[in-house]
Amino acid sequence: MIACIANARRRLFYRPAEEMSPISPKPDPQVTAQAVARLPAARSRSSAALPDGPTDGQIAPALLAWYDRHARVLPWRVGPADRAAGVKPDPYLVWLSEIMLQQTTVQAVKTYFEAFSRRWPTVEALAAAETEDVMKAWAGLGYYSRARNLKKCADTVANELGGRFPQTEDGLRALPGIGPYTAAAIAAIAFDVPAAVVDGNIERVFTRLHEIGTPLPSAKGEIRAHVARATPGERPGDFAQALMDLGSSICTPKRPACALCPLDGPCAARAEGRQEEFPVKPAKKAKPVRRGAAFVAERDDGAVLLVKRQDKGLLGGMTGLPTSNWTVRGDGATGPGAAPFAAAWRAKGVVSHVFTHFELRLEVFHAVVTGDSDHPGWWSARDSIAGEALPTVMKKALAAALPDLF
Ligand code: SF4
Repeated sequence: MIACIANARRRLFYRPAEEMSPISPKPDPQVTAQAVARLPAARSRSSAALPDGPTDGQIAPALLAWYDRHARVLPWRVGPADRAAGVKPDPYLVWLSEIMLQQTTVQAVKTYFEAFSRRWPTVEALAAAETEDVMKAWAGLGYYSRARNLKKCADTVANELGGRFPQTEDGLRALPGIGPYTAAAIAAIAFDVPAAVVDGNIERVFTRLHEIGTPLPSAKGEIRAHVARATPGERPGDFAQALMDLGSSICTPKRPACALCPLDGPCAARAEGRQEEFPVKPAKKAKPVRRGAAFVAERDDGAVLLVKRQDKGLLGGMTGLPTSNWTVRGDGATGPGAAPFAAAWRAKGVVSHVFTHFELRLEVFHAVVTGDSDHPGWWSARDSIAGEALPTVMKKALAAALPDLF
């Protein structure tokens, strides 16, 4: 029987809704009420010192009861009813699906998993395959280092370990292509080792349950400690898969379906309506600053000199003011020396504008000039400027020089 894991482990890889097994409108209220009664401490905010009470340890009953009724049906999974009937997962297939699911969606993996498991039904068969054939069969799944490691790992297990996968996280991590997450997932699902399995979905669930305010990735240790506490001695594999299902189908990044969640009672974020505030993202890095100068030449009739920017580069082909180059080092000419022509240029302050990859600070200069100039461009009458195709940063510069313009 095929077994493994639903690994919608990153925010990017949620399982589409159509893959879900039917979900009843509401979890068993009795189960939820019992869970709430057992989880009073979950409403308190998490602190650096993890709660010593029953909070995490009491999550499993409610979650497993929900999983028993709503587990997703996946081609590599031994469902809870079969597990209860004594069907054991095949470690080879658990491992195969886990490697495939790294960086790939559940939907994309299904076809490949079925093709691989049909063509190479055992680790010995995969080890005996030509590497080229494995690579060809992998084509289209991406991240080809995974396929190379898949083959290496199969060779090691088949030829050096007698065809048996190690049953511990440490033993699994020693194999090619298996990192901490994959080792924990295989150990839990294939061997029912109470390993703390923490993927992106599970991080989200636990940061919400405990309102963990530490930004990721700094919060990872705290989250892992909570998951380790919550992982039960019995059915740890089902527990890990239940968390994955919950995170991918119910506790979604946007608009989580808390009304359907078996942990809605004890969830601290739910209680305060702050679900979408967690997990806390790290502060964005400051953007590099580029500096330059913009020149507002005002003719004595009030018209302003505008130019068409070069087609290439930022704001390419758009209407603008004459400007200097914009440099990160601030070593370009940004004063009157960069002006399009000689005039009585007067500083009018600095405007700032944030682009995707940098912040631009433009020093604005203004001069009233008599007559036209040879500078390329056109003189736009005052009452026409508002209708020009000016990007926001240029409007800011114009407004700095001519506050009553817009
Ligand atoms: S109650 Fe809502 S926010 Fe809390 S764990 Fe459940 S789905 Fe997530």
